Amino acid sequence: MNDDCLFCTLYRDGDHVAAGDGFVAIRDINPQAPVHLLVIPEHHIDSLREIAEFSADENKRMLEFIAEVAAREKLTDYRVEVNVGPGAGQTVFHLHWHIKGGWKP
Ligand code: 5GP
Ligand code: ZN
Repeated sequence: MNDDCLFCTLYRDGDHVAAGDGFVAIRDINPQAPVHLLVIPEHHIDSLREIAEFSADENKRMLEFIAEVAAREKLTDYRVEVNVGPGAGQTVFHLHWHIKGGWKP
């Protein structure tokens, strides 16, 4: 827990769409798709660059949680994105996964 980190704070106190063992999902405050969720791990790393700090089990459970959240939101077709670094659009430096979907076919 990093008190200065927005997503550490939202992990603890945010309005969660779903919560798992070490992961939560929230709705993006500025949605870029009809459904736009963020999956946030409890374990703070600044970005995907530091993913070696996660265990194989954490990584597996994180990906499974992403798929579970999408299914729970009834998204059959969706996009999962991670921005790495400001040049790629990263603005919050706590690893998070965007789930975007809900477009009409
Ligand atoms: P990034 O640009 O770092 O990949 O993604 C950060 C995302 O967090 C952005 O899509 C932004 O809209 C979202 N965001 C920023 N502040 C908040 C907040 O306070 N609450 C929620 N729910 N989303 C936020
Ligand atoms: Zn954090």
